[in-house]
Amino acid sequence: MQTEPTVIIGAGPAGCSAAITLARSGARVALVDKATFPRDKICGDGLTTSALRELEALGFRPDGVPSWTPVDDVVVRSPSGNSVRFPLPRDRSLHAVVARREQLDAALLDHARTFDIEVIEGEGIAELERTSHGVAVTTSTGRRIDAGYVVAADGMWSPTRKLAGDVLPKYRGDWHAFRQYFTGVTGPAATELWVSFEADILPGYFWSFPLGDGRANVGFGIMRHDGVAPGNKLSRVPDMARTWPALLERPHIRELLGPDATPESPHRAWPIPARIGGPALTGDRVLYVGDAAAVGDPLTGEGIGQALITGRLAAESILGTAHHPAGRGAEAAYEAAARASLVADHRMSVTLSRALTHRKGARAAIALAGLSGWTRRNFARWLFEDYPRALLATPRRWRRGMFTPDGAYDRHPETDPKEPAGQRS
Ligand SMILES: Cc1cc2nc3c(=O)[nH]c(=O)nc-3n(C[C@H](O)[C@H](O)[C@H](O)COP(=O)(O)OP(=O)(O)OC[C@H]3O[C@@H](n4cnc5c(N)ncnc54)[C@H](O)[C@@H]3O)c2cc1C
Repeated sequence: MQTEPTVIIGAGPAGCSAAITLARSGARVALVDKATFPRDKICGDGLTTSALRELEALGFRPDGVPSWTPVDDVVVRSPSGNSVRFPLPRDRSLHAVVARREQLDAALLDHARTFDIEVIEGEGIAELERTSHGVAVTTSTGRRIDAGYVVAADGMWSPTRKLAGDVLPKYRGDWHAFRQYFTGVTGPAATELWVSFEADILPGYFWSFPLGDGRANVGFGIMRHDGVAPGNKLSRVPDMARTWPALLERPHIRELLGPDATPESPHRAWPIPARIGGPALTGDRVLYVGDAAAVGDPLTGEGIGQALITGRLAAESILGTAHHPAGRGAEAAYEAAARASLVADHRMSVTLSRALTHRKGARAAIALAGLSGWTRRNFARWLFEDYPRALLATPRRWRRGMFTPDGAYDRHPETDPKEPAGQRS
């Protein structure tokens, strides 16, 4: 086994997933983040079934996340104003949850601390140097750590990628999204998860995700058009800062939030990278995961599940090649695993997002998804990544019961604590 530790830069979902997977197998790990947790992360706070399954598999328990809000239905509003309710399964497991990232990420890092992981907060990566045995990381305080591999889990603007010289020129993400927390929410948004396809921001969308206690995470995301920034005169997409207050004034959105809804804090914006294989997935002794690898979903902009998956895959690749005499090979193993796991679904999402570019396409897609009870149930599961986006097109992933798997966690653990998720009939 390689003796050098793996250094993971970034302790968000991707970094924690990699760190826990490595540490559970007895590998040495240092987990470095420039922030001190709890720290905010601009996000919609929505956890898909896939993300929930990954969290559960890491042994993470949500008890330390006060805002953990399970969701049963997704309500989608089409540009014509027609709303369709898509029900998620009512079995004993969870298929969608909303949880404030500030709390979720801090709790996940606390879970990582229960393993033999050296957690270093408040220090950013400052230097990266190739050594004869691997790679050396120097942090902003001058601390040097010699590593076999570096896992770069440091988000959209990945400083590790810059230091390694693997930057994709002019890349600024594929989505740009605004988020604002609201309190005093008394309309349907207090308890329901809403997605609204507003005609002027297509193929983007407005969302309101419930956080319990009269709170909601409200925001909107738009796709960048061929690298052109929103608001630029070459872009079809309007200036986001001007669009945001105008969206909040729309009667159906006011009704959704209720008359007493007030912002808790100013809105904040951040890009979402969703272009797997665009920016390199690996460098020399460096594996990029999560937003640093641009693995978000091009259709919805969701990236937490993909961050957890790629963190795990990077760790498994390092573990799987640890006995190689020169300790090499994790780069190729990770590239292959990440592509096999995510590329087909990415392509499917890109194709479908084209249909949502215009009002007619969005209307037709929502009408089709809402045709019958069967289409509504399956659309909800598909949207929330209960099964992979391109499952039908990838026979290698077909399994018995693939359309009816359990979600994650036990919805009512107190009533039957001995029965873990995944073993229910
Ligand atoms: C507005 C918005 C809404 C979104 N909504 C959703 C949603 O509802 N559901 C969903 O699944 N996804 C959503 N996403 C995407 C999701 O937030 C990301 O895909 C996800 O956070 C990626 O996780 P990560 O671990 O790769 O990176 P991050 O969560 O960004 O973590 C990166 C970490 O790296 C650290 N770091 C940065 N620089 C350095 C440095 N120099 N040295 C050390 N550490 C460093 C940061 O402090 C941070 O802790 C949304 C994104 C946006 C912008």
